Amino acid sequence: MTGIVYKSTGSWYTVKAEDNQFYDCRIKGKFRMKGIKSTNPIAVGDVVDFEIDETSDAITGSIHNIHDRKNYIVRKSVNLSKQTHIIASNIDIVFLLVTINNPITTTSFIDRFLVTAEAYHIKAVLIFNKVDTYDDATLDEQLFLQYTYNQIGYECLRVSATAKKGLDELKQMMEGKVCMFSGHSGVGKSTLVNALEPNLNLKTKQISDIHQQGQHTTTFAEMFDLSFNSKIIDTPGIRGFGIVDMEKSEIKGYFPEFFELEDQCKFNNCLHKDEPNCAIKNALEEDKIAWSRYKSYLQILEGDEEQYRNDIYAD
Ligand code: GDP
Ligand code: ZN
Repeated sequence: MTGIVYKSTGSWYTVKAEDNQFYDCRIKGKFRMKGIKSTNPIAVGDVVDFEIDETSDAITGSIHNIHDRKNYIVRKSVNLSKQTHIIASNIDIVFLLVTINNPITTTSFIDRFLVTAEAYHIKAVLIFNKVDTYDDATLDEQLFLQYTYNQIGYECLRVSATAKKGLDELKQMMEGKVCMFSGHSGVGKSTLVNALEPNLNLKTKQISDIHQQGQHTTTFAEMFDLSFNSKIIDTPGIRGFGIVDMEKSEIKGYFPEFFELEDQCKFNNCLHKDEPNCAIKNALEEDKIAWSRYKSYLQILEGDEEQYRNDIYAD
């Protein structure tokens, strides 16, 4: 049988098969992981083949194959071994919840998030939440951000989780997709998911509270079916991606607005920093590229490890 992994506890995997039933499965044999060294061979979102165990009283299964992943997100362990843990895979859309105030979401945070989503090959969409609280100045700021991100190809939604505004559009976008929600603590992730699906109780809150007490928490993702033909992957305690390992020369490849200009730079390995005759810097002077985006690019290029670590977990 073939199914999707909805939950993992380390040794057992809950798999939903084609017959819509859930099976508790274990791994049979060893998996050869293609190019990825991770602490876990199978993650939530993986498509697996398994056989039903005939001998056991309970209905259990043995996983003997994993299908190629379209994408996956990882977490590096903090200790020296730097082992990689795969949190989830096969994600169709990651939504970043952004609030202008309470809490403030900075453009550097948004851009680090988008760069990592690009590196992961996951479609990212910005959701501006709490639009019910906007005054004129906040509205201006939000519209400016929306314009900036639309210009470079990122879709933006405006919602209010509490006033239930903009939810239909969001649901339409989520239909038939595996989705994830990210964003700073307090931006309204739990409230929004509750507004979309009132009977779903995500653990996001609980776990981040434990984290606040300074305990070490392991991240167990879990997938849920929603009533409007969508799936959500809950990743407790995670508010962002951080920056995945990348070479300096790779980073510019994750800024879509650089693409069509880059071949006009004098040097084809131009990092758009101190080089002469740089098309990106010229475009910047002509306001064709947003200053905030360029600033974020330089920040990522300079690589503030501490900043990236702070991005990841709930505060
Ligand atoms: P999370 O940490 O991202 O899960 O954020 P919560 O869902 O816990 O929301 C944090 C606070 O923001 C709560 O007090 C919510 O009631 C409030 N909140 C969430 N969405 C909205 C919204 O659209 N408008 C307003 N005014 N408040 C909201
Ligand atoms: Zn350049």
